[in-house]
Amino acid sequence: MAGVLRVFYNLSIKRKLMWVIMLTTGFTLLMTCIVFTAYNIVETQNKKVQELTMLATVIGSRSTAAISFGDNQLASENLSSLNATASILGACIYNADGSVFARYDRNGSKTDSCPKNPPLGNAFQGEILSLHQQILQGGEPVGSIYIVSDLSTVREYVTRYLGYALAFACLALLVSYTISVKLQEIVSGPINHLVATARQISEQQNYSVRALRTTGDELGVLVDAFNEMLSQIYQRDMQLINSKENLELRVIERTQDLESAKEDAEKANEAKSQFLANMSHELRTPMHAILSYANFGMEEINEAPKEEQFKYFKRIHDSGTRLLQLLNNLLDLSKLESGKAQFDMHLEDLQKPVGVVVRELQMMVTERKQNIVVEQPSFPVTGEFDSAKIVQVIYNLIGNAIKFSPEGSTISVKYRQDTLPTGENEIVPALTLSVSDQGIGIPEEELESIFDKFIQSSKTKTGAGGTGLGLAICSEIIREHQGRIWAENNSESKGATLSFTIPIHAAAKNTNGSAAPVPPTDALEEIAA
Ligand code: ADP
Repeated sequence: MAGVLRVFYNLSIKRKLMWVIMLTTGFTLLMTCIVFTAYNIVETQNKKVQELTMLATVIGSRSTAAISFGDNQLASENLSSLNATASILGACIYNADGSVFARYDRNGSKTDSCPKNPPLGNAFQGEILSLHQQILQGGEPVGSIYIVSDLSTVREYVTRYLGYALAFACLALLVSYTISVKLQEIVSGPINHLVATARQISEQQNYSVRALRTTGDELGVLVDAFNEMLSQIYQRDMQLINSKENLELRVIERTQDLESAKEDAEKANEAKSQFLANMSHELRTPMHAILSYANFGMEEINEAPKEEQFKYFKRIHDSGTRLLQLLNNLLDLSKLESGKAQFDMHLEDLQKPVGVVVRELQMMVTERKQNIVVEQPSFPVTGEFDSAKIVQVIYNLIGNAIKFSPEGSTISVKYRQDTLPTGENEIVPALTLSVSDQGIGIPEEELESIFDKFIQSSKTKTGAGGTGLGLAICSEIIREHQGRIWAENNSESKGATLSFTIPIHAAAKNTNGSAAPVPPTDALEEIAA
């Protein structure tokens, strides 16, 4: 039994449904056949008993006179009328005392038609039905009648009936099989579709596929739940892919950040080394000059003519000035960076600081056989700025232009009316001053970095000296003026143009900065003093 059940459990849904339908239908049909056949047998038997009772009653009542008059002949004749009924095998009329009065035996019958004292009522014995009934006259028993009947026709009838019933049951089973083949698809169809969808998804790993809902029953609910589950898996897959991509992007970004940080650190390190080398050079050269000329002076104090001694003092003075200038630069930058620098903002004509610087550098320009051309502005160039600090910026820009340009070249200074965006998304009127030269120019990729501290362009690193602090100071000063400073290479002629833009009206907060003291500042102040 367990084996049969196991085989049944392993059958496909389709087969299971077929078996369930066929077994149920078959069992129902069989039970119906059995019940109807049993009912039919009982009914036929009852009918036979009724028929026999009726015959017995008719013959009995017909024979009362014969019994009363002791006319055996008449009674026998009455009994012989039973010959017309083929199933009657024999009959017997008894006197009241139970003795045989008359009898009838069908030809060839082997049954005992007149048994001794048979019990009243009917009795079935195999295929024989016997009935023993009293004959009444005026309510008083005058004798009794006994009839024996053959039931083989009943068996034949029942057998035929059962055959028809079974044939009908087989036909019904066949029809129910044909119908169930169609009907089972209503249940197994959606399940098979679900199975095929699940298989396709697992084979192709494609979670965008969906099962089709064709019914509104529990299978429909199952399909919905299956589809919902797929949606969730699909969404999770998408999220996973996104997260993976984001992660990869973040890793790339981080790697780039790290690489650029590494590059910055390397540049800073290189700048520091370069600065130390430059500083040593910048400090040693004037110190060397001071010491050498002081030595010459001491050795030749009596012999050297006054003009020669003046030359020594002049050189000592120049070198000292250069040293002081260098230290001042460091001090300035340190102050600016720590926010300690004071800004004295006044409304002034920008031509004034330009004039001061041009006059101061005129000697140098002449010495280098260069030419400096300052454009006359056709518009007012008055703005609010710290004159001394702007002089420092212009001095540095024109100084560099002279320093990095060949003999005989021209340096031009130009003004421009301009605008500047502010932090509050406004645009304010501004003035731009540009210093163009015909010098060596600046490599494109270094146009921004030259404004960093201690940075010199790769074109000038080795030759021109300097500390790389000038433009960093300029940048800080212009930043404090809420302006911008930048460098570009001249497109047509060679050389570079360095420009700055400052707003015409200074922002209030720039006038005085303050911050915690930075250690090198104090040290530098001492040196400068
Ligand atoms: P320094 O001149 O003392 O080295 P700066 O900060 O003034 O320092 O200048 C930084 C660098 O920018 C210079 O060393 C030079 O390489 C480059 N530079 C500045 N101005 C010019 C210019 N007009 N032409 C070419 N290079 C320039």
